[in-house]
Amino acid sequence: MRIAVLSDVHGNAPALEAVLRDLVDCDTVWNLGDTVGYGPDPVRCMDLLSALAPRATLVGNHDLACIGRLDTSQFNLIARQATEWTAAQLDEEHRHRLASYPPTTVVGDVTLAHGSPRSPVWEYVISSTVAAENMAAFTTQLCFVGHTHVAAIASYPGDSSKVRFQRLGAGSIIDVAHDRAIVNPGSVGQPRDGDPRAAYLVFDVERATVEMRRVDYPVEATQRAIAAAGLPEALGLRLALGR
Ligand code: ZN
Repeated sequence: MRIAVLSDVHGNAPALEAVLRDLVDCDTVWNLGDTVGYGPDPVRCMDLLSALAPRATLVGNHDLACIGRLDTSQFNLIARQATEWTAAQLDEEHRHRLASYPPTTVVGDVTLAHGSPRSPVWEYVISSTVAAENMAAFTTQLCFVGHTHVAAIASYPGDSSKVRFQRLGAGSIIDVAHDRAIVNPGSVGQPRDGDPRAAYLVFDVERATVEMRRVDYPVEATQRAIAAAGLPEALGLRLALGR
């Protein structure tokens, strides 16, 4: 079975549509959350993903903020403005749907968490130190997380004092058969690693590999929709830079 692992779509429909066209060789989808927030198409992104019937969907910190379940005082001004705009786009059914998703779950032998296994809503797994501190917070061999918008793998060869943390570039194929690991697919809708292409990964269960994929999409289409929605211009500018 091949599973497309997506995270941080953030209401960017042109990016999501490009990824959905690309992942047709996969059998199912896992969505690690932050489907909405920042981008101009929150409802369309939620509906596209729901129609795909993903095997697992998580809720992220921006999703929770947009349905009034998370205090936004730690968000910057632009994120708060986007949260308020997004909240106004969601009807009762979409709010209820977001509220029904957990921030972490276990599917078969794999843990999924939006942020980190120990703090699934807020924590960023951005270093070997944070990864080491999370090793005991999940019991499966593999854990997939999102939230940082940067594709990476933290692996635990033998013991946590030797955690290896590395970014995953486009096309990398990593063997995950042996060591425990936390793997991040990057962001579909707002990549922050300097590469503006939409990011996702394919987890091949039988081969025990993860393959990083990057997909071109029309960034200017999202920028036009951001302008038309009256969202802050900075949200469109950063997409072109992958920041
Ligand atoms: Zn996010």
